[in-house]
Amino acid sequence: MKIVRTVKGLREDRLAVHNQIGFVPTMGSLHDGHLSLIDLARQNSDYVVVSIFVNPTQFNNPEDLNHYPRNLEKDLKLLETKNVDLVFCPDEQEIYSNQTSPTRLEPSGLAEKMEGKFRPGHFSGVCTIVNILFNLIQPHVAVFGEKDFQQLRIIQEMVSDLKLPIKIIAAPIYREANGLAASSRNQRLSSEERQNAAIINQSLELAKHLVAEGETKSAEVIKQVKSQLANYKELTIEYLTINNAESLEEVEIVSNHHRIFFAGYLNQVRLIDNKLL
Ligand code: AMP
Repeated sequence: MKIVRTVKGLREDRLAVHNQIGFVPTMGSLHDGHLSLIDLARQNSDYVVVSIFVNPTQFNNPEDLNHYPRNLEKDLKLLETKNVDLVFCPDEQEIYSNQTSPTRLEPSGLAEKMEGKFRPGHFSGVCTIVNILFNLIQPHVAVFGEKDFQQLRIIQEMVSDLKLPIKIIAAPIYREANGLAASSRNQRLSSEERQNAAIINQSLELAKHLVAEGETKSAEVIKQVKSQLANYKELTIEYLTINNAESLEEVEIVSNHHRIFFAGYLNQVRLIDNKLL
């Protein structure tokens, strides 16, 4: 496994590779969810590149950036066991050259909804870094998780709008044994909180069940999900909406091709999840 920390080194290595390249961008503190993306990249390419970079331009909250877990040595060991071909793990200066206000990409209108309302500039930062990484790595395929469903849709639109010759593959949400969506942030929860946070997935399952039983009113589904979530007082909801999976518009009448989206806080740790209804 090659470990590359500089843009210059990456360019040299990229020129030497003629295989079909599969790319998985991450912010590190890797868990089984990330590993499932690497497996998908492996199935769809013959040279797997993983990047580890905690991207400052996508954090609107400096506290969140400071607290973001970092475990590079552990991550590299894990990637070694997955036979990853190349890991790109630059430092901040390597990517942004100490620029206080670097060139940024403006994402499509999808970025204004849900996460965009609570994390201004977040998706601009995401598109900026993903585009930089795409330019450097020039992958044939890149894998993104449905855990960050809005991000996946925005990247799909970016690739289409900028005519990038990259196939985007969507990876299903990987869940811990109790159903909680795996996330690097989960390690900031106590073991009790981590168990109790299973209620998020359970309440989204309830929504799915209600729709399967014939409920069509979005407001009614949301009301029942909220009432279940209210059983866990420490959990606060930031948003809970049912949206069209393509346009990400909120819907009033629900059907089983729509998605329910949750964002909230548990003890200052921000958690998100979503589910196809
Ligand atoms: P992150 O390191 O959180 O930026 O995530 C890197 C990639 O892994 C993104 O495409 C995420 O959507 C994806 N990812 C993170 N957690 C999960 C999960 N539990 N299931 C599926 N994909 C995930």
